[in-house]
Amino acid sequence: MNGFLSKSGASSLYCKIKLDYIFSKLLGGSGAVLMLHRIRDAGQSGFAPNRNLSISPEFLDDMLTDLRQRGFEFVSMDELAADLTDGTGRGETRKLALTLDDGYQDNFVNAVPIFRKHGVPYTIYVVPGYIDGTIPHWTDEIETIVAQSDRIELSRGDKKEFVTSANVAEKYQAYSRIAAELLAENNLVVRSRMLRNLALAHGFNQEAHHRQLTMTWDQIRDLSRDPLCTIGAHSMTHRMLSKLGARDALWELSESRRVIADQLGTAPRHFAYPYGEAHQREFKLAKQAGYQTAVTTINGVIGSKHCARLTALPRIMIDGRHQTMDVVNTQLSGIPGRVLSLIRKIRRDLKRAQFRPQEVVR
Ligand SMILES: [Zn+2]
Repeated sequence: MNGFLSKSGASSLYCKIKLDYIFSKLLGGSGAVLMLHRIRDAGQSGFAPNRNLSISPEFLDDMLTDLRQRGFEFVSMDELAADLTDGTGRGETRKLALTLDDGYQDNFVNAVPIFRKHGVPYTIYVVPGYIDGTIPHWTDEIETIVAQSDRIELSRGDKKEFVTSANVAEKYQAYSRIAAELLAENNLVVRSRMLRNLALAHGFNQEAHHRQLTMTWDQIRDLSRDPLCTIGAHSMTHRMLSKLGARDALWELSESRRVIADQLGTAPRHFAYPYGEAHQREFKLAKQAGYQTAVTTINGVIGSKHCARLTALPRIMIDGRHQTMDVVNTQLSGIPGRVLSLIRKIRRDLKRAQFRPQEVVR
């Protein structure tokens, strides 16, 4: 029985590797841009609504070893852009560019030594408002407050509302509710006031939290001297550009480029849209602001069509909830990106045709 099982296990593993290989050849394009955020162990159980954004240093280390053994070549965003600009298209090796959003302190402490050990180039997209401490990391703040509290106090003008958050399920509910309210609020003054009220009500020290979470300009300057490192921009205030007027959206793109150039002596050439949310207008604005490339969170691999779409590049998120090479390899096969793209296309077509299901039934 054991022999049969191990034979069957080996054959299904062989099949999976073979299928991954075939699909990679067919749909895997010329490579991909990988998206990371935090490099720290967030555990796999309990309350951690932002767990998807954290991968452990051990998994990062193993993933880089594994991908290189599978023949991937790691390149910087500059090299990727040069390939696409040349229209070189697909070479013999598939290329991967590693990117990290938001400029977390754990990138400096945990990730950089691993990138240096493997000699892997990386790009960190930073938000000047986060670094200066003028813009709070609101998702992390809410997570910490809810994790530490059994009851959340919400201010509603002069009134107060209380939400129970004593167990994991209640904490997730409380977090979702507060996060949805804050995400919908694009007015920075109002959002900051909501967060400040929440922090005050729960004795939460926003400044200390911010200091341990975000890299400083000194650390970023230090990294910018590393030949492996590229510093990119990720807007001034981390608001969804598509929700802003054209003037404000262009300001987010241009001002972050100007401030980073002031701090580092070189203007960034690469941009990441906050929340990955961007459409045709933002793609043009990124070009207008002087960026060579800009990345979204649209799932997909890089292909020849991106030669003409350098400010609309897809990325593959390495999700902290699924830290296995099986998941990474499936993503790199190009299948999930194709399926999601097909779903988006069907939705667009249905919307255009003003499709109403009852008409079909009749
Ligand atoms: Zn971000």
